[in-house]
Amino acid sequence: MTTLRWGVIGASDIAAARMIPAMRRLGHEVTAVWSSDPGRAAGYAGQHQIPFATSYLGELLARDDVDAVYISTVNHLHYPQTLAAAAAGKHVLCEKPAAMNLPDAWSMLRACEDAGVVLGVNHHLPCAATHREIARLVAAGAVGRPLAARVFHAVQLPERLATWRLKDPSAGAGVVLDITVHDAAVLNNILGRPLDATASGVRQGPWDAAVDDAVMTVLRYEGEVLAQTHDAFTIGYADTGLEIHGTEGSLLARDVMTQDPVGTVYLRDADGEREIPIPSRPDLYEVSLNAFARAVTEGTEPAVTGAEGVRALAVALAVQESASSGRREPIITEPEREV
Ligand code: NDP
Repeated sequence: MTTLRWGVIGASDIAAARMIPAMRRLGHEVTAVWSSDPGRAAGYAGQHQIPFATSYLGELLARDDVDAVYISTVNHLHYPQTLAAAAAGKHVLCEKPAAMNLPDAWSMLRACEDAGVVLGVNHHLPCAATHREIARLVAAGAVGRPLAARVFHAVQLPERLATWRLKDPSAGAGVVLDITVHDAAVLNNILGRPLDATASGVRQGPWDAAVDDAVMTVLRYEGEVLAQTHDAFTIGYADTGLEIHGTEGSLLARDVMTQDPVGTVYLRDADGEREIPIPSRPDLYEVSLNAFARAVTEGTEPAVTGAEGVRALAVALAVQESASSGRREPIITEPEREV
């Protein structure tokens, strides 16, 4: 098995809850951690048995025992920290959203390419066995020509995460950059090129949010395909789900917009409805890490490439723009060519 030595950039919840345990289950090493606060760096290192802690990023990036960095800081730091890591020759697995705007995101792609390091974006959903099977079935024509998708991704934000996500727009707060961007990673993978977004967002939670905490969106994909999404921090009792409807059938998946390897997938067509077997359900974050390690050592692609992460961001930014302008907004997936 291919393993890496990781520098963890960000004393975050997701690193502690999902990524560090997944790294260790796979036999990877976590050799260093960075936090902006020296006390938090030391405390986090102690709590998670990480041998080296620093609040100087350059110190972590200069270490020979760091092959790759996992960046899970607040969203506005993903861009400068990716650039710094690439300049130091470290491979980068960056949390979503890749960046806060498209010029920064495209710079990240260029910087990693120029430095010859791998850039992956840690969207977990395309790593789920359910999602991979849905994508495979759609590509194999199981529903005929796709016409529409529906995503149900309205959940209750856990209290421990109700901090910068709700309060700090400059750090990348809001449900769109948190959840819609995940929907986009899933839908782009299945439906292809996103064209435009029409969205309506509100603040409906029992908190003093500075940003939208619930949004409904219609996305238009190439080929006259429509997708609707409902993303929220405020819904405690709904199922999550993903549906793909085509000319010859429908795929109906429940409880699949989640971090755990659970959920069901049904195919309904002229022959009736049957459950699609999902025989193996590896941990989503292990799938991401395995693919990333192979990308580093064998030159294959990460589970979600930097470019795919940036296309998901492009969708989310158009959704944000539409929710604020009240108009249908184009999804810009390529930088304008320089003349
Ligand atoms: P956290 O709020 O747990 O951590 C983000 C940053 O907040 C940390 O890097 C840390 O800064 C700071 N921080 C954490 N705890 C404290 C504290 N007690 N006091 C002061 N500052 C603190 O965020 P998440 O783990 O929820 O999210 C981090 C990133 O990961 C985001 O980009 C998010 O979008 C992404 N994410 C991805 C998920 C996925 O499934 N792919 C799921 C959840 C999040 P410092 O490092 O400087 O100490």
